[in-house]
Amino acid sequence: MKVLKFGGTSVGSPERMKKLLDIIDPSQRQIVVLSAVSGTTNNLVEIGEAYLAGNKDKAASLIAILKEKYEVFIKELFAKREYLEQGKEVIDYHFGLLSNLANDLFTSIEEKVILAQGELLSTTLYHVYLKEIGIRSVLLPALDFMKTDEDNEPIVDYITKHITPLLDKHPENNLFITQGYICRNSFGEIDNLRRGGSDYTASLIGAGIRSEEVQIWTDIDGMHNNDPRIVKGTMPIAQLSFDEAAELAYFGAKILHPQSVFPAQRYKIPVRLLNTMDPKAQGTLITNTSEKDKIKSIAAKDGITAIKIQSSRMLLAHGFLRRVFEVFERYRTSIDMITTSEVAVSLTIDDTTYLKEITAELLGFGTVDIDKDQTIVCVVGDFGAEKHGYAARVLEAVKHIPIRMISYGGSDHNMSILIKTEDKTEILRSLHHRLF
Ligand code: ADP
Ligand code: ASP
Ligand code: MG
Repeated sequence: MKVLKFGGTSVGSPERMKKLLDIIDPSQRQIVVLSAVSGTTNNLVEIGEAYLAGNKDKAASLIAILKEKYEVFIKELFAKREYLEQGKEVIDYHFGLLSNLANDLFTSIEEKVILAQGELLSTTLYHVYLKEIGIRSVLLPALDFMKTDEDNEPIVDYITKHITPLLDKHPENNLFITQGYICRNSFGEIDNLRRGGSDYTASLIGAGIRSEEVQIWTDIDGMHNNDPRIVKGTMPIAQLSFDEAAELAYFGAKILHPQSVFPAQRYKIPVRLLNTMDPKAQGTLITNTSEKDKIKSIAAKDGITAIKIQSSRMLLAHGFLRRVFEVFERYRTSIDMITTSEVAVSLTIDDTTYLKEITAELLGFGTVDIDKDQTIVCVVGDFGAEKHGYAARVLEAVKHIPIRMISYGGSDHNMSILIKTEDKTEILRSLHHRLF
C-alpha cells in the first residue's frame, strides 16, 4: 500500500484539488495525506497571534477574510447544490470553532487547535468532493493515530496500532484520506509536527503501515541541487540516499520537513519527491543507495547563532567539552555545528530561547562571544575518508567570502560552512557556478 502526500500548492485551488485524480488512481488501495490549502496555515498563525495578544477584533476580521476565501473555494469545487450545502456546513463548523475561541481563556493549547483547522478543512472538503463525483473514500482522523511522546517525538508503534484497525474496518475501500501535520501530544492535546510537517506525517504513516513507497507530491520536480528560490538554473537530483536527503532537509532544503526522512529510512521505505504540475517528470528517489563520487547538492539554513567559548585555562582539561555540552542539554538546546581548537570551542544553535541563561552559565568557563544572523551552508555529496579534492573545490569557490566556521568529516556526505547571512546569496551562487 502506498502513501501519497500532496502539499499546500497541490491542493491550493479547487482546480488543483480536482486535478489530483490525474495522479491518484482510486482503484489502488492507498493513503492520501493532504496539507492545508496553501496560505491557510500562515493565516491561522496570524489569527492565533492576534488572540494571544488579546486582540479579538483583529482575530475576528482575519477569520472573516479567511472564511470568505473558503466560501469562494467551495463554490468552484462543488457542482451540485447538495454538496455545496455540505461544503458550507464544513466551513461553518470550522470557522465557528475559530470564532468561539474568543470566549475562552486563550493559551498555547487553543493556539494549536487553531493551527489544526487547515488540514481538517482541506481533507474534509476533498472527501465531500470525492463523494460528489462518485468516488468512494474513507476519511481517517489523524488525531486518532498520530501521537507524540513527552519529548515531542512521534511514536511509530502507536501509529501502527491505531491505524491498522481503522484500515481493517474498510476492507472494501481503496482510497483513505487523512490530515498531514496534526497530531496529539503526550497530554492528549491537539498539537502539530511543526511547519511543513505533512511530509513527516506521510513518512510516519509509511513507517507505521510498512508501506511499499511514500510519494511526496509538491510544486517542483524533486530535490534540486541548490535552492531554486535563490539560484537560477538548478537541476533535479534523480537519486539520493536517506542520509543525504536528511542532511539537505535539515540544512534548509524546504522541499522536505527536516525530520521526515528518518521514519522511512528506519523501515527502508523508498521516498519519491514528485511534481504535481508535471506528474511525468522523474523527480527524486530517496533510498538506501546513492550515486558515488559526486557532489550532489547545496542547501542553506538561516537563523543560526554562533557561540565561541574561550578558556585557555580549561580547554585542554578532560571533561571540559562534556561540561559545555551539559549546559546546552540542561536548556534542551541542540547544537548543529562544532569546531574546536586548543584554546576555544565554537558551536552553533538555531533555538535561542535560552541564549541568555546558556551564556550566563558558559561565562563560568571563560569568555563568550556571540554572533547572530549566521547561515550554515551545507554541501552534500560522497565525501568518504578515502576521497580527496572535494573540500578544496568547495573552499576555492568561496575564497572571496569571510568564513566563521568549517566542518568536514562529521559524516561521509556533508561539509558545512558558517557565514554571515548577508553573504548567503553570493555564496550559494558562487558554489553553484563552481561545483556544477
Ligand atoms: P509543499 O507545500 O508541497 O510542502 P514546500 O513549499 O514546502 O511545498 O516545498 C517545495 C518548495 O521548496 C519548492 O517550491 C522550492 O521553492 C523549495 N525548495 C527549497 N530548496 C529546494 C531544493 N533544494 N529543491 C527543491 N525545492 C526546494
Ligand atoms: N500546513 C502546514 C504548514 O503550512 C503543514 C504542511 O504544509 O506541511 O506548515
Ligand atoms: Mg512543505
